[in-house]
Amino acid sequence: MSDEVRVWIEHNLCTGDGLCVQYAPDVFEFDAGGVAHVKNDPAGPLLTDEGASANVPEHLRLDVIDAADECPGNCIHVARLSDGVEIAGPNAG
Ligand code: SF4
Repeated sequence: MSDEVRVWIEHNLCTGDGLCVQYAPDVFEFDAGGVAHVKNDPAGPLLTDEGASANVPEHLRLDVIDAADECPGNCIHVARLSDGVEIAGPNAG
């Protein structure tokens, strides 16, 4: 089974502490209002629509999972592309 994952943020729960941006700045970035968003490319654009997800490059996967595990807002979702199962974040088993 492929290990590829995608990630998205429940923006209304984001505390703006910046932990995710520290872990994986190529995937997470603040908007002007201090809310974190995901992006597919280090140079942006930010995916600001609620529920919009970014594909996670393999070399950043563990950083993104760590960010989801430690996110103070418990609002980073990480799901496998292959079957949609959430492997980190509030709905992970
Ligand atoms: S770690 Fe979670 S709460 Fe903190 S900025 Fe990132 S998404 Fe928001």
